[in-house]
Amino acid sequence: MHVRTTCRAGLLAALLAVSAVGLARPSATELLEQAEAIRSADPAQFGRLVSQLQGRRGELAVAQREQLSYLQAYRLAFAGRYEEAIGRLKELNVSSPEADIRFRSGALLVNIYAKTRRFTEGLRQLGDTLVHIDKISDPELRVHALTEAAYIHNEVGQYRLGMHYAERILESQPVARTRCFAEYLRFDAMLNLGILPASDTPITTAVDDCAGIGEIILANSNRTTLARKWVGEHKREAAIAMLRKYLPEVEAARYPYLAVQFKALLAELMFERGDLAAAETFASETVALSGTVGNTYSLVNAYQTLYRIAERRRDDETALVYYRRYAEADKAFLNEVKARELAYQIVRQETLEKSQQIQRLDSQNQLLLLQRKVETQASQNTRLLVILLVMLLVSIIYWAYRTKRTQMSFKRLAETDALTGVCNRNHFSVQGERKLAQCARAGQEAALVMFDLDHFKEINDRYGHAAGDRVLQQVAAIGKSLSRRVDAVGRLGGEEFAFLIGDCDLAEAMRLAEAYRAKIAEIETSERFPVTASFGVASSALVGYQLEQLMSCADKMLYRSKNEGRNRVSVYDGGHGVMPSRPVATQPEWEPNTPAYRGQEAFE
Ligand code: GH3
Ligand code: MG
Ligand code: MG
Repeated sequence: MHVRTTCRAGLLAALLAVSAVGLARPSATELLEQAEAIRSADPAQFGRLVSQLQGRRGELAVAQREQLSYLQAYRLAFAGRYEEAIGRLKELNVSSPEADIRFRSGALLVNIYAKTRRFTEGLRQLGDTLVHIDKISDPELRVHALTEAAYIHNEVGQYRLGMHYAERILESQPVARTRCFAEYLRFDAMLNLGILPASDTPITTAVDDCAGIGEIILANSNRTTLARKWVGEHKREAAIAMLRKYLPEVEAARYPYLAVQFKALLAELMFERGDLAAAETFASETVALSGTVGNTYSLVNAYQTLYRIAERRRDDETALVYYRRYAEADKAFLNEVKARELAYQIVRQETLEKSQQIQRLDSQNQLLLLQRKVETQASQNTRLLVILLVMLLVSIIYWAYRTKRTQMSFKRLAETDALTGVCNRNHFSVQGERKLAQCARAGQEAALVMFDLDHFKEINDRYGHAAGDRVLQQVAAIGKSLSRRVDAVGRLGGEEFAFLIGDCDLAEAMRLAEAYRAKIAEIETSERFPVTASFGVASSALVGYQLEQLMSCADKMLYRSKNEGRNRVSVYDGGHGVMPSRPVATQPEWEPNTPAYRGQEAFE
């Protein structure tokens, strides 16, 4: 879309002709490639290929169809149907599934906007397009966009940026044609910035590079740059010679934009040389050509030259006419320069605002993220605190439970006889007194039964202490089995036990004692020795509710049982001494030969 030449047109057209008469009909893909290759060089053939491809759209893959859509828009733009082209390109730029096509469409839009002097839109589009440049893998597409960037920035007078983009293109080692165009853009920017290199060589090299590949217009555009450089260096004659030499080439290229530059510059130089006729011719030709080119710096120059010629000729009337035209053209040109500058500033401001907005949104986002992080942290902390508290609570509860258990076990240990598991003497006293007090309050009778194992020392001596211990445990177990009816069972010491029974008269107490005695007598030992016990019973009805008293009386009865032959129950009968002891139903039968039996005899 830029300054294009038809250098390769002939060759490509020949190639196409060959393929057209070839044996095989070219595939749609081949046609697409051809269209792509000649799009700027041979507009007519390009148009035909695009029409042909349109008819064979069905043969194309999705990406190729998108490419064809792009080429159709390109064709419209080339034909000057800019509005239609813009419409299609905008659509492709926004919604094509192909990233490359979106990018190319964006770059072409920039070019059309620049061509149609819609610089604000062009610069906006450029910004939107360049954002995606890093995602584009095809280096040619990237360079294409950079070329548009350099071009439009030069057009709006932002020569530093124009130069920057041109240099980026040159750094990427582009193909010869792109290099030629980028060099032109770079030197054009440098000329306007007044920073052209002192040596002519870089420019003449660029001229040769462009000419070498048939880019006549670009070669001559570089020559105008060189001519202006020479004018600045007072090398007027050299400039005139060069411009004159290449003017026919420029005219043959039919590119009026360049022709007006050549002619206006020549007019100015010829005037300075004093060749008013030649100057007038060139200036008039510039004015004539400007009908198609529009208001340019060259037109301003041409009017100025014409005015100065008339002035030199003292033709005041004509001078005034040209002066007016010169002033108008100059004003219009300056207005356009200002408008371009404004376009750049507007878009720059917009971009700045956009980036500030993005920054603001970004920092807001960061803040939100931070807040969320803090909240998460806080909730994590709360959770942690709750967990800690729960753990603390659990450990306190556990600790309290353990303490209680320890206390309980200590209490049990303190209250219980270790060997037999019944109450020890102390605890039995406490329990007994409590029960007696209860019975006293309730007006119930209570009874105390005491017993002592018979000849226990002998058992220990004969069968060992362990056997004696086992007997003690068995006796206590019987006591516990009776304890459903008994309120407290205690081991008073050694082989002496007692139990207290609440709400129980003497007769019932006697029955219970008798039952206990009988059960003890039934104890079976592995060594087969008999176990018996002598019992004493006392009741609150006769002794009162004092435990000590009851124990004392029961103890007396126990000794009575011992004295009367053991293995029996004696009951305290109140103030009249003691009740007769109750004889045992049967005496334990000792094996005559066993040491126990003999011992029994000895006990007697
Ligand atoms: P009696 O029929 O007159 O009561 O005669 P005894 O031998 O039972 O009475 P004595 O008071 O002479 O002996 C009691 C024995 O009980 C003395 C002691 O060695 C034994 N004894 C005391 N405590 C324990 C104990 O915890 N385990 C064992 N195996 N023997 C014990
Ligand atoms: Mg004893
Ligand atoms: Mg004893």
